[in-house]
Amino acid sequence: MHRLVKYCSDNGERLTQNRKAAFAVLKGSRKPLTAYNILTRMQAMGCNGQPPTAYRALEFLILHGFVHRIESLNAYVAAEGKGRQFVICDKCGTVWQRQSHVSHGIEDTFYPSTYYSEVHGLCQPCYMENRA
Ligand SMILES: [Zn+2]
Repeated sequence: MHRLVKYCSDNGERLTQNRKAAFAVLKGSRKPLTAYNILTRMQAMGCNGQPPTAYRALEFLILHGFVHRIESLNAYVAAEGKGRQFVICDKCGTVWQRQSHVSHGIEDTFYPSTYYSEVHGLCQPCYMENRA
């Protein structure tokens, strides 16, 4: 949350209650959440936002690199920074993220601002369970 607060104040962006709540909801979840899940949790936190409000908050967070939409799941996760690789367990739905690097050969001639990649598979416990 600290990073988001600082980013908004440094860049003259308004940190609305909905933006703050949407980010807090995603930060508190290890698993990706659908827009509907996010909205429900935002309402539980006292935001009386309607779906368009939640979507606008998510759009803002995505645009500024604080949230990533996992296309294949149609769900959202808090991004710990730009340039992330999301490792997604297809069975239990847990998502890990780590710093991702642009492949060699591109970085000399191209300066990316945001880049994400998604890796699907099974985590260790799910893999072992599948084999048993
Ligand atoms: Zn798993």
